[in-house]
Amino acid sequence: MTDMLKFTSTEQHYPATAPAEERKHDFKEIYANFDPAAAALQASRCSQCGVPFCQIHCPLQNNIPDWLKLTAEGRLEEAYAMSSATNTFPEICGRICPQDRLCEGNCVIEKGFKSVTIGAVEKYITETAFAEGWVKPIKIKRESGVSIGIIGAGPAGLAAADMLRRYGHAVYVYDRYDRVGGLMMYGIPNFKLEKQIVLRRHELLKAGGIKFHLNHDVGNNFAALRARHDAILIATGVYKARDIEIPGAALGNIFPAMDYLTASNRKNLGDKITPISAEGKNVVVIGGGDTAMDCVRTAVRQGAKKVTCLYRRDRANMPGSAREVKNAEEEGVEFMWLSAPKAFAGGHSVEEILVQRMRLATQDAAGRQPVIAVEGEHFTLPCDMAIKALGFDAQDLPTLFTAPELRVSTYGTLAVDRKKFMTSLPGVFAAGDIVRGASLVVWAIKDGRDAAQAMHQYVTIKQRVAA
Ligand SMILES: Cc1cc2nc3c(=O)[nH]c(=O)nc-3n(C[C@H](O)[C@H](O)[C@H](O)COP(=O)(O)OP(=O)(O)OC[C@H]3O[C@@H](n4cnc5c(N)ncnc54)[C@H](O)[C@@H]3O)c2cc1C
Repeated sequence: MTDMLKFTSTEQHYPATAPAEERKHDFKEIYANFDPAAAALQASRCSQCGVPFCQIHCPLQNNIPDWLKLTAEGRLEEAYAMSSATNTFPEICGRICPQDRLCEGNCVIEKGFKSVTIGAVEKYITETAFAEGWVKPIKIKRESGVSIGIIGAGPAGLAAADMLRRYGHAVYVYDRYDRVGGLMMYGIPNFKLEKQIVLRRHELLKAGGIKFHLNHDVGNNFAALRARHDAILIATGVYKARDIEIPGAALGNIFPAMDYLTASNRKNLGDKITPISAEGKNVVVIGGGDTAMDCVRTAVRQGAKKVTCLYRRDRANMPGSAREVKNAEEEGVEFMWLSAPKAFAGGHSVEEILVQRMRLATQDAAGRQPVIAVEGEHFTLPCDMAIKALGFDAQDLPTLFTAPELRVSTYGTLAVDRKKFMTSLPGVFAAGDIVRGASLVVWAIKDGRDAAQAMHQYVTIKQRVAA
């Protein structure tokens, strides 16, 4: 037995981070892994509190206090068994969850003692499990005879595929891309999540019997897919980039964030493409979410002359993770808060941005602070490459799939029965960003797992009725 509650005598430590001056020049993950002694010591800082707020604030309700205790005791195989019981991809959440807003941000020792480094311990447990061979492909007892089609190989689709295969169903995953992972592959850059981590999971899922049909864009063949499978899951994410309608928006060298990030990720994967390069440029990224943070830090690594982030609200109201803002600042990114683009100017391509100063008004009844322009206060910013990272909306799936009966919400996302995850089409389920709107990997995993359970119930009843 190991004593816990060591937060009173042991300071918080994260694994070593590559120094900004070094990491600026490559795309490697910036955080090292804990060594066994450091992981055990940091895990033993947990206070084992009666009401674990870390667990409550984790979308997956991960049993964090218990796997921290097991880690502190060196019982890593059990720690992995426990952490993977509620999370399909703990090594990914350990790396890219915004822990400062979820588990760690709600750790009860956070006030005054600094939280337990939960994400880093989760990554350590799972990487140890991979190294020790404890992570095994799915082995089913018998085939159920049920066939499931999943459209989208992002975290929601993959988490659902994993669960449904464990039930013994034949699972077929269709994705328009050539690699699995969705935004984990082509959105999130290597310095947060190296791609072999996602590809390693793909190999395991394939070894467990899940069939992948990549480069398979589902459109008006949707009806044929429905006919082929007993149930379908739509997990296509949200990709329609929000745009800025201001003068000069059609000038050259203004790119949507996903075009920029996808090109960079593909280049790093060794694909033969022409990257959109920020080298030697004055880059301005517009937006304040995780996507904007990934763009500014990618531009730094591509050798931009200067990288500026324009955000219309202030630092406290940024949707992106505070940790990522800090990392970007260390890497030399300049943030201009309360600043919004008013016009792009230039000849053929953008040369400068006219920026409007903004201010936050008093809170409205819903608790939101509207952002308003400060009359007469603007300035120009030199810019020879602009990246728009203003968020994403759902594609019009009823039209794309030639399925007008597929009901959508007022936001254009798919409408589902919240408990059953079923859309307005019988046997067609949906999960992840396409239901929730742009969100987080951990929520996509949670929704994928829950939808899988609902689908299993549905096909089991269908099978019994048919028997
Ligand atoms: C740049 C960026 C950075 C982010 N950083 C973080 C982060 O640090 N931490 C975090 O938790 N979250 C982050 N997110 C959010 C997170 O990536 C998403 O919430 C999550 O990936 C959603 O999962 P999903 O499975 O619903 O969709 P996606 O990951 O988008 O996957 C959907 C899949 O469906 C496929 N698809 C779409 N349409 C079709 C079709 N018609 N036919 C076949 N296949 C189709 C796509 O090719 C894709 O592979 C980030 C998002 C972006 C854009």
